[in-house]
Amino acid sequence: MDTILVVNAGSSSVKFQVYSIEGEGTLRRQIKGQMDGIGSRPRLRAGGASGQSLADRAYPIEAVPDVPAAMAVAGDWLRNELQVTPIAVGHRVVHGGPDYSRPVLIDHGVVSRLERFVSLAPLHQPHNLAPIRSLLTNFPKLPQVACFDTAFHRNHDAVADHYAIPHQLHAEGVRRYGFHGLSYEYIARTLPGVAPAIAKQRVIVAHLGSGASMCALMDGRSVESTMGFTALDGLPMGTRPGQIDPGVLLYLISEKGMPPSKVQDFLYRECGLKGLSGISNDMRELEASDDPQARLAIDYFVYRIALNAGMLAAALQGLDAFVFTAGIGENSESIRARVTARLEWLGAVLDAGENARHARLISHADSRIPVYVVPTDEELMIAQHTLSLLMNGQSHNARPERVS
Ligand code: AMP
Repeated sequence: MDTILVVNAGSSSVKFQVYSIEGEGTLRRQIKGQMDGIGSRPRLRAGGASGQSLADRAYPIEAVPDVPAAMAVAGDWLRNELQVTPIAVGHRVVHGGPDYSRPVLIDHGVVSRLERFVSLAPLHQPHNLAPIRSLLTNFPKLPQVACFDTAFHRNHDAVADHYAIPHQLHAEGVRRYGFHGLSYEYIARTLPGVAPAIAKQRVIVAHLGSGASMCALMDGRSVESTMGFTALDGLPMGTRPGQIDPGVLLYLISEKGMPPSKVQDFLYRECGLKGLSGISNDMRELEASDDPQARLAIDYFVYRIALNAGMLAAALQGLDAFVFTAGIGENSESIRARVTARLEWLGAVLDAGENARHARLISHADSRIPVYVVPTDEELMIAQHTLSLLMNGQSHNARPERVS
């Protein structure tokens, strides 16, 4: 059975999924796993297609000190114990920089170009690239594909791509990129099946997870995003503040004497729901708490989603549908209800019963615009991109070799 391996490597975990390639290029998820606790308490966990556990084992810290080691351990497990030998690997790479507006087949030249964007995403890009490099070294014939979080947004108009700063910085790459592009692309591709009437119209998608952003879609294309140069801007997130006056950062530097590394840590790890609530970055815990600070954090989250919806509706010059997705968007009845209540002026009216049963369409029959819940699947998007690049590449290249 031909398979594709999808890898999503972060600083302390490597998530992976294996898809089998069935007739007519259909992909079926067979294995989902992750190696987490890299460099601290390494643990491999994986499950099969029907959720059955395939592995749950701890490793000594010396066995899995870094991301390449985690990739090697997971790869050995897949090859040696499950006899999985993928014909290609698709990687999530957070930053494709200004040039990549679609996935790309990886070679050493591509890796060098992607290394240039490490400074644009210092917490993600190095970890995304580490397994790519080690696979290039150990399995040079194995086709690898990089799929970017930025690519889906690369065709924004100039006004949506710029900051009001001297042009030289834009030329250097200081631009409004936008992220979560694989999630939005998946939703855009799914909408014609879910809601053909609105798929070509003006749609706001709210990706509400630990990371959160919103995207304005016109005819299935991204025209605006709440995120910009980094994945810090826009909505408040689990531990990131979202939109913040840059003057606050100047204050932290000049008045609090924070060095750049502390400011970075603060922005990525100490703010957002966690910072505001002082309790947790996890929406479930905040919803279960009656602490006033937890309530404030949720109020702020809902308020900022509604404010940003207004901004995106302005970018679209109107609105024909609203879509919730990701962990909070797919699961929190209460956040969806509260956000939709704030969108009434845009024509959204909730059907409380449908919302409570987590239906796909949660707006009332009288709602001027439909409101949907569409589960996202970034890994499937990566697998699809990898397969199509592989198939299209076949007219130029020999059939990819199976790696054993
Ligand atoms: P993600 O990053 O997409 O996995 O989303 C993670 C976020 O979704 C966390 O803040 C979780 O608390 C939140 N989440 C997951 N399930 C629920 C739920 N049933 N109710 C509220 N929030 C949830």
